[in-house]
Amino acid sequence: MRSPTWLLVAALAACQSAKAPTDTAPATPELGARVQQLSTRALEDNQAIATLAELIEAAPKRLSGSPGYTDAVQWGLAKMRAIGLQNVRAEPVMVPHWQRGAETAAIVGADGVPLRVTALGGSVPTPPGGVEAEVIEVRSFEQLAALGEAARGKIAFFNRPMPRALRRTGSAYGEAVPQRSNGAIEAGKVGAIAALVRSVTTAIDEHPHTGAMHYQEDVTKVPSAAIATIDAEELARRLKLGPVRVRLELGCQTLPDIEQANVIGELRGSETPDEYVVIGGHLDAWDLGVGAHDDGAGIAHVLEAVRLLQACGVRPKRTIRVVLFANEENGLRGAEAYAAAHAGELARHVAAIETDSGGFSPIGFSCSLRDEAAEQLRPLFAPLAEIGAGVFVPGAGAGGADISTLHKAGVPCFGMWVDGQRYFDYHHTEVDTLAMVNERELALGAATLAYAASVLADR
Ligand SMILES: [Zn+2]
Repeated sequence: MRSPTWLLVAALAACQSAKAPTDTAPATPELGARVQQLSTRALEDNQAIATLAELIEAAPKRLSGSPGYTDAVQWGLAKMRAIGLQNVRAEPVMVPHWQRGAETAAIVGADGVPLRVTALGGSVPTPPGGVEAEVIEVRSFEQLAALGEAARGKIAFFNRPMPRALRRTGSAYGEAVPQRSNGAIEAGKVGAIAALVRSVTTAIDEHPHTGAMHYQEDVTKVPSAAIATIDAEELARRLKLGPVRVRLELGCQTLPDIEQANVIGELRGSETPDEYVVIGGHLDAWDLGVGAHDDGAGIAHVLEAVRLLQACGVRPKRTIRVVLFANEENGLRGAEAYAAAHAGELARHVAAIETDSGGFSPIGFSCSLRDEAAEQLRPLFAPLAEIGAGVFVPGAGAGGADISTLHKAGVPCFGMWVDGQRYFDYHHTEVDTLAMVNERELALGAATLAYAASVLADR
């Protein structure tokens, strides 16, 4: 496999031979005007929120494998054609098919306090009638492993909070989320009979947050559920007073994989149409809410971005390829299928941008490139400061799960950053709804993405 550095050097060399003789791309007055034009048009037309509302109406529930996801694909194809994109198509992806069932939990005893829980995606069910056991609370995998035999037959309760003090909520999420993704494995290793995981949010509220979780082949699979933070606090309070027993019942099931699709369309480049800037988000969403922020907002961003470019008469030199990825939430099969299907042309992918952080006010971009390579691009992003989106952070990894396969293949990758202070209040819950998305913030995100895609495609 070619190294990222090799591709980068080649890409930059190609750009520079065709364009300016200088090493850095200067921010020109024209680029400042482009930011103004795109953002003004985005706010005036106010189409991003309309696009998001259409998606939610057409496919409110669109978890991979579900009929709702198929509806979302049909909507995406029709919407791309309506916007005037070319080469609109669905590319097949085999996706997992996991279904939620009835789910209940309660503290066992005289008062039988109910606990608000939801199965984590991919969990095995409990036996009919549920499981009942004493709860042991831990804050780390090390603490659980140290308990050893004391954990056998118990319900492992992972209660490490998402750290409040980190200003970047995505980083805070990263600190706590291993409990959710791997808690069932660690619980299985010590002979616990289920995993109960504190919801990954700093909010103290009544909404359990679902999300992906994994099993390991050689470890007994135990059911795994998220518990609302307010109930996690109550459970922890009672555990300080003495032993607590909980009954948990999950009726979820895993069906055979089925074929669904990524949705792809293009705004063809004016000079080198066989070179690509990919912009993408994920079309699937968890099933509790309607995925308005995660990632309906990203879908609205990318579709509105290419509409805006056309409406403003901006025709980039390279092709901007819009990809609505399948199965980000519980498998990443869409990302894998895209990279496999397009392996032969990845060397002609000059950049990929993902938007999967919610529909909040844009603040800028992360960039997988480092050092000189990133610094050469910085001036192109600087004009976004005019609308508060001028942050540019090099060396920040893939920029999003859907483009992580492109990052691995050496494609320079960018993640659109938004103000994430409220994102994890809604993330993967029943309250991730349209009403939680501000139309002006969403529109500015679309304008920001349109600008970034266009300057990368023009370079
Ligand atoms: Zn997402």
